[in-house]
Amino acid sequence: MADDAAPDAGAAVLTSDTDRLIDRASRGDLRALARLVSLIENESPELRPIMRALAPRTGSARVIGLTGAPGVGKSTTTGALVKAYRRQDRRVGVIAVDPSSPFTGGALLGDRIRMQDHATDPGVFIRSMASRGHLGGLAAATPQALRVLDLAGFDVVLIETVGVGQAELEIASLADTTVVLIAPGMGDAIQAAKAGILEVADIFAVNKADRPQAQQAVRDLRNMIALGQQDPERPGWKPPIVSTVATTGEGIVELTDKIDAHWSWLSSSGERERRRLNRAREEVAAIAVGALRRRMGRLPEGDGLDELARRVAAGEIDAYAAADQLVGTLVTQEHSGRAGRA
Ligand code: GDP
Repeated sequence: MADDAAPDAGAAVLTSDTDRLIDRASRGDLRALARLVSLIENESPELRPIMRALAPRTGSARVIGLTGAPGVGKSTTTGALVKAYRRQDRRVGVIAVDPSSPFTGGALLGDRIRMQDHATDPGVFIRSMASRGHLGGLAAATPQALRVLDLAGFDVVLIETVGVGQAELEIASLADTTVVLIAPGMGDAIQAAKAGILEVADIFAVNKADRPQAQQAVRDLRNMIALGQQDPERPGWKPPIVSTVATTGEGIVELTDKIDAHWSWLSSSGERERRRLNRAREEVAAIAVGALRRRMGRLPEGDGLDELARRVAAGEIDAYAAADQLVGTLVTQEHSGRAGRA
């Protein structure tokens, strides 16, 4: 049945090739890992069986999100963190996400340069994800890619996002610890407040601390945090501010220390479980909404959104009634579809 190839079809099974790919990835084979991430990103017909196979085998990697305006030093900081973690003998995965770019496939951002640094290191995996317009989009693909890295036994996964728009915040919210980067003299602190970034930051890094206005940026940020109320979402955690010079590595060890401290707090406060649960809820809801949208698109013309929209625009029915009718049609279809398959 043609429908079985659709991403919301549940019947597909794992081919033995893919099964072997999963096995190789779980033993840390980076090429197998890259292939698996591509299958996910391209919404392969095997996406579902892959995720089914991965579900019981994942969940231990620590996910760190880095976000901030373009040019603040995210790529440089990511590179410095990778080095620092490797010195601690931790295996590191990096997912660089650019929600605004239609390109995909692992050769974006600072990748190529950073790749060269770690090209022969089996403890480092770097991957860009930039596809937009896929069903469910990046926000749906990223958590799946994270699971693959988790499967491969990475201790730490860094998610680096470009810019501070809504999509970036969404992706940052996949992290256990979100680091917000600010650079002096870019008016970033104020920008950050506008973008709602104060709320998502677990740790602030004032990068480019070698610049003259760095101390002022730290003071501005400190004032802004003090003005804000204690976040009821995070009792007992006050986001620390770390000054870094990513280009020289100054302050990077302190940053990894703060990330470790945050991880300890997440575990001891129960916040880690709460966040993971929240994330799972968001993920399921996003997939469900995506599936409903696809079904809407497949409705026969007379039942579909276009016809209802026409009637709403013509004043024949109101939008609520139209929405009820649409939901009703989808539910009826689902039932009759099930009966048909049974
Ligand atoms: P991104 O766009 O946020 O990923 O920023 P990049 O990491 O690409 O850095 C933007 C520019 O700032 C590059 O030219 C970096 O070399 C430079 N840069 C990054 N960190 C520092 C720093 O700590 N001090 C100084 N002076 N320059 C930095």
